[in-house]
Amino acid sequence: MRNERATQLLFELSHPGRGGAVLPACDVPERPLAELLGAQHLAAGPPPLPELAEPEVVRHYANLSTLNMSVDTHFYPLGSCTMKYNSKRNERVAGMPGIVDLHPYQPESTLQGLLALLYELQCYLAEIAGLPAVSLQPAAGAHGELTALMVAAAYFRDQGRPRTKVLAPDSAHGTNPASAAMAGFDFVTVRSTPAGFVDLADLEAKLDDQVAVFMITNPSTLGLFEHGMREIARRVHDCGGLIYLDGANMNAILGIARPGDFGADMMHYNPHKTFSGPHGGGGPGAGPIAVAARLAPYLPTPVVERVEAAGGLPPRYRLAYDRPKSIGRVRSFFGNTGVLVRAYAYIRTHGPEGLRRVAENAVLNANYLLSQVKDFLPVPQGDRCTHEFVASAAKLKAERGISAMDIAKRLLDFGFHAPTVYFPLTVKEAVMIEPTETESRETLDAFAAALRTIVAESPELLHKAPHTTPVSRPDEVRAARQPVLRWTAIK
Ligand SMILES: *Cc1c(COP(=O)(O)O)cnc(C)c1O
Repeated sequence: MRNERATQLLFELSHPGRGGAVLPACDVPERPLAELLGAQHLAAGPPPLPELAEPEVVRHYANLSTLNMSVDTHFYPLGSCTMKYNSKRNERVAGMPGIVDLHPYQPESTLQGLLALLYELQCYLAEIAGLPAVSLQPAAGAHGELTALMVAAAYFRDQGRPRTKVLAPDSAHGTNPASAAMAGFDFVTVRSTPAGFVDLADLEAKLDDQVAVFMITNPSTLGLFEHGMREIARRVHDCGGLIYLDGANMNAILGIARPGDFGADMMHYNPHKTFSGPHGGGGPGAGPIAVAARLAPYLPTPVVERVEAAGGLPPRYRLAYDRPKSIGRVRSFFGNTGVLVRAYAYIRTHGPEGLRRVAENAVLNANYLLSQVKDFLPVPQGDRCTHEFVASAAKLKAERGISAMDIAKRLLDFGFHAPTVYFPLTVKEAVMIEPTETESRETLDAFAAALRTIVAESPELLHKAPHTTPVSRPDEVRAARQPVLRWTAIK
């Protein structure tokens, strides 16, 4: 059902003379504005602002807000993004006065509670990664990638043998090549096999003494655990390179497998994905990184350190800047602290056993959904997955002209956020679905039923979907380059 009122502009709802406040009559002599400000500073007339009563304004914005999809209102199976429900407990913790009322310029001695929390978070992230040293500073996953690649560059420079190349598979997230380029490396793509794994022969052919880092997303964006992982790590290490683990998919392996144990030397987390920080709409996120001991000296400063006290006194926490080999600061103050506090609350709430169950249930949900849709929406990479899977509308497109985009758009009419489409690039007409562990069986069944209905609908209906949203199918390139923000112009 179209929400017409929510899509009218305040200007269209305006009635001259209406307002939100009634001021008492002026009880001092009035003087012309021109006399006070100078006539040259005055506009020709008052600005044409909309005139409305307060409830009209409140309803306008409240109705507008209902046009948004969010994890709190809709199932949001956006592959690669891990849009799990964010429990409100974490919000409450992050909003506690002892946290929100702090100022980053306060003396360290008055920040002991927050520093203790951040220190513990560093320890938990190190433990989950199987890598001993952590920086909480990066502001997003992509920023974590960049920071870790800068750490790698500093490491190789310091060894007196700088290296020029970064490798990643063709199924990698676009941030991987972007981070490599920003860190000053040449980026080289490694092919995947048809089954979706790293092509070892192609990797071997591209490995040489100029390869600094092989970036790998494991489990991959195809929802597959790289079974050649040990062999990949051995080959990269044999030629002196480092393994970077893009940790966006940690939700699949929390408490089950540790990147440091399967060969990674560095990794980032996306707390806004894995540890239930809210995301979508542009952040803020965080991108803490964990690295092997030999890379620790190059981490950004400050790092939170714990100083044991003598005589039975409690330990103290300090921000350590005294690291001569550090790449320096990559973010003001201590990083996006609010997101980090939510991650801390999430990790503490679940504990080691709970985190493992999170991953097990995420994988169970994804496999259940896969089993419900694969018969009418083929999944080229197989019958099993980790936390997400990539279906393909290629056959539907060839036979009936129905594209991945048609399916994604039509899902909005059924009250579901669209999955990720056309990523990874290695799957034609990709529909990438990640249900996460927080969805019930009923929701997964309803989603599968909607998909089943959609693929049987007429192509004409689907090409024009969605039919229930205020805007249906803008020209996406034009919408991004020349946004028309005036509703009347769109109508
Ligand atoms: C989300 C994601 C990133 C980037 O993380 P941001 O926090 O969005 O910067 C990198 N790689 C993969 C596989 C991702 O899914």
